[in-house]
Amino acid sequence: PPQASPPPPPATPPAVVELGAVSGLDWQPLREAVAGCTACALSQSRTQTVFGVGHPQAHWMIVGEAPGEQEDLRGEPFVGPAGQLLDAMLRALAMSREAEGEPAQRVYIANTLKCRPPRNRNPAPEELQRCEPFLVRQIELVKPRIILAMGRFAVQALLRSSEPIGKLRGRVHRYQGVPLVVTYHPAYLLRNLPDKARAWDDLCLAAAVAERAGAGLSPRA
Ligand code: SF4
Repeated sequence: PPQASPPPPPATPPAVVELGAVSGLDWQPLREAVAGCTACALSQSRTQTVFGVGHPQAHWMIVGEAPGEQEDLRGEPFVGPAGQLLDAMLRALAMSREAEGEPAQRVYIANTLKCRPPRNRNPAPEELQRCEPFLVRQIELVKPRIILAMGRFAVQALLRSSEPIGKLRGRVHRYQGVPLVVTYHPAYLLRNLPDKARAWDDLCLAAAVAERAGAGLSPRA
């Protein structure tokens, strides 16, 4: 019988995004680099990349996980019910993603992954690793006083910790010297309403840290 033809060679892995390649980029080139990125397989299934939204110089930086269906379609992070919950929590602190006012009212929102994982599956470690330089550069450009890490994958990316959120929240961590507070992802809160009060406590802690930093006091680590 004829021999089965050998399997095709594996596709050449896409180039890893090197931190050095994006480390000096300003906002517009960084945005373009993300829009054209093919460093992981998610580039093949996305509708569009989801770069980030908010004020480029804000006291607050919120880091979420990965785009979902609505985010992938609209090109903006935290839209849909989870985004509405986040916006309501920010409004309660006199902040909004559109705020052009005082720096303390401004926020910049980005995800750890810029492309949607198919069927909203969990991000793969390699995808997080390849995408990380973009988030690192966004944080460098925003220079926030406080980072709010929402959800397990944001925490894994920024703190290199796989501890559950419940163990990491309630205290101030550090990311590259910037105070960081851990809290639940709004999508989780929609399914676990009792934890909303804890998330509100986390936001209040973050607000207190940002205020202390503004007053020239060193935040408690
Ligand atoms: Fe590039 Fe990040 Fe999208 Fe992967 S998820 S293709 S690393 S922008």
